[in-house]
Amino acid sequence: MLVMHTPPQHHIVILGAGFGGLRTALELEKRRARLKDFHVTLIDKRSEHVYTPLLYEVSTGALHDNQKFCVGELCSGVAVPLEAYPQAMRSKRLTFKRGEVTGIDPKKKEVHLKDGTRISYDDLVVALGSAVSTFGIPGVNEHALFMKCLADAFRVRQRLAEFLGAYVEGKEKRVEIVVGGAGPTGTETAAELGNFFDRLVKNGIIKRKDYEIRLVEAAPDILGIYPEKFRVHARARLETIGVILMTNTKILEVKKKQVVTDKGEINADVMIWSGGIRPLDVVKTFGLALDEKGWIPVEPSVLVKGQKDIWAIGDVAAFLDPKTGKRVPALAQATTKEASVVAENVTRRLERKRPMAFHPPSHWVTAIPLGGAYGLVDFGSWSLRGRLGYFVRKAADFFYFFSILPFGQAFRMWLKGTNVYIKND
Ligand SMILES: Cc1cc2nc3c(=O)[nH]c(=O)nc-3n(C[C@H](O)[C@H](O)[C@H](O)COP(=O)(O)OP(=O)(O)OC[C@H]3O[C@@H](n4cnc5c(N)ncnc54)[C@H](O)[C@@H]3O)c2cc1C
Repeated sequence: MLVMHTPPQHHIVILGAGFGGLRTALELEKRRARLKDFHVTLIDKRSEHVYTPLLYEVSTGALHDNQKFCVGELCSGVAVPLEAYPQAMRSKRLTFKRGEVTGIDPKKKEVHLKDGTRISYDDLVVALGSAVSTFGIPGVNEHALFMKCLADAFRVRQRLAEFLGAYVEGKEKRVEIVVGGAGPTGTETAAELGNFFDRLVKNGIIKRKDYEIRLVEAAPDILGIYPEKFRVHARARLETIGVILMTNTKILEVKKKQVVTDKGEINADVMIWSGGIRPLDVVKTFGLALDEKGWIPVEPSVLVKGQKDIWAIGDVAAFLDPKTGKRVPALAQATTKEASVVAENVTRRLERKRPMAFHPPSHWVTAIPLGGAYGLVDFGSWSLRGRLGYFVRKAADFFYFFSILPFGQAFRMWLKGTNVYIKND
């Protein structure tokens, strides 16, 4: 089936309703007076937009609590339903289409979906994100859990729940958890687990000697991209909540219940891998120019190199900062800024104006929650830590929801999530 929009209506198709795709749709809506007759189709294989910075909360949130929370309640603070989104935003120019993108045809200006649907476009925005990279380490795909999407967070939750159930019944004596990769995601996951088990000890549910959490990193330190002072605070916090740091340690293989490193073997009843990201396989089929790692290189306007009407933003795009020559980091913040640029440039293309260039800031302020009511915020030359850092992070969560939802809905989402997740904090 071919879905077409009749000219002169300008059809903008966005692939992926994550941080980049959703924000692009909203930014286009803001420019409706300038765009005049247009329609936006937002395509995603999932039915919800996920706020990844809070994913770790889903894996442990209220797990120890007697009060049971259903899946819907656990998701309520991280997932925005996409089918109802255009209505929630009162947008008549936005359609959400659920479907898996299997390819594009730049010559015919069509997107192909797995169910056979073909959708024609005038402008195409690729915002499909990234996949987990296992760096070819044997056994990771088979034996490790991940922390990339909502389903991953629930898998971790399930494993923890199984262990706790068996421990309480006396069928399990001890659990050893290994988190592989100490970037922001791995570090905050390890910290969340450290704090969660610490809570269980304080509540008399588990004995301290009956669990071990290790954070394994090949580089000399955790959170390698952050300033030294920031890393010192992060290390101190992890030690306080009982996370064992194993830096300068390369994971060579993951087996069932065991991780083989260059320093020896470690027991791992639960292994969570967060070693990095790689391009999605489907992007290779698009026929676009790719860089040596498989990312899509873009111009300063975020137009895909060599294309006139295909743009790429977010994790999938290799945007090189003109000041440093380095790739802009794969961050939600960078992605949402690129989304504003793409919306502006699609508008300018229709107005026959010159495109604007994306100028990334010299520093990205990042907030990392480290278990319980503790957060670290890196402002570059200075940082905030502890409870203050935690509140800054909570405020950032709210402002994100408010940027994509009407105030009332954003507040309810933030409140519902906080109500469930705060039980561990
Ligand atoms: C656990 C975790 C925590 C993070 N914390 C932070 C943080 O605190 N701060 C920060 O700045 N960044 C954070 N990030 C990084 C941030 O999530 C990414 O940089 C951001 O999501 C990139 O946005 P995107 O739009 O490129 O991709 P995504 O947000 O991943 O969106 C891509 C979308 O494309 C869809 N999709 C993929 N393939 C297909 C297909 N074939 N067909 C249809 N749809 C498809 C996906 O379902 C998804 O909805 C975190 C990431 C993770 C995993």
